Amino acid sequence: MVFVNLLVGFILALAIALAAYRARTLDRSGAVAAAVLGTLIFGLGGLAWAFLLMAFFVSSSLLSRLFGKRKRSLDEKFSKGSRRDAWQVAANGGVAGLFALMHAFFPAETWPWIGCAAALAAANADTWATELGVLSRNTPRMIHTGKPVERGTSGGVTLEGTLAALAGSALIALIAVIFWRGYTGLVLVGVPFRIADLMGITPVNFPFEQRLAWFGWITLAGLLGSLIDSLLGATLQAIYRCPRCGKETEKYPLHSCGAQTTLVRGLPWLDNDWVNTFCTVSAALAALVMWYLL
Ligand SMILES: [Zn+2]
Repeated sequence: MVFVNLLVGFILALAIALAAYRARTLDRSGAVAAAVLGTLIFGLGGLAWAFLLMAFFVSSSLLSRLFGKRKRSLDEKFSKGSRRDAWQVAANGGVAGLFALMHAFFPAETWPWIGCAAALAAANADTWATELGVLSRNTPRMIHTGKPVERGTSGGVTLEGTLAALAGSALIALIAVIFWRGYTGLVLVGVPFRIADLMGITPVNFPFEQRLAWFGWITLAGLLGSLIDSLLGATLQAIYRCPRCGKETEKYPLHSCGAQTTLVRGLPWLDNDWVNTFCTVSAALAALVMWYLL
């Protein structure tokens, strides 16, 4: 049964990764990583898990495409272009994939679902904040000092960006409580239909008040992850300077103009992918602590 699920998961994941590659959302390595991640999540988790991943993937890809033109002027700042590579896919979805793997070992437990949902909520919060935050008319301020900074600077936050993060996190939390571990929330609207039965997952009864509470906790965990992302971006993330353009950038060793960049602050190894990884890890940990305490 596991092998059939993995095979079906692989075919679905491959189809989506290829579509993303052709739509230029992912580069070649990113498409391979997305296919592996999708196979893990679809194949080991099932449909409910696939919905979580798809909500992140579809909404963030749509936002990049919708606002890509207006963001392009900032591309010289970001370490990578709009096409995601394997490291970006792993940084955003790797933790969620690990929880899908945990689910395969502990199918009766709920915590892998909570961890996966919170990790993806944080990744979505961060992506929405980046995609929508750069459109803000207000000057971003550094998260820990409040000093105004140039648009697109790591660690710079705006009210609009933070609201976008909250909305991005809430979308994943909503899907997490509707499709709670495969027990489809269609029962909420009076349709006693269980996707879980088809997927061989034991459905869990989960009362409405608890769903509402976990909608809140997962949303908060995702927002916390994106705040930690900004805080790391403002303090420990490696930021470089281009001597030719005189601009701060995440690009290393070469700026988009071709000049060699030099480190101005942060830890040399802590690049944007590591920051994103810590963002998803911290959200998952926060949600798991809540799960343990409540
Ligand atoms: Zn330059």
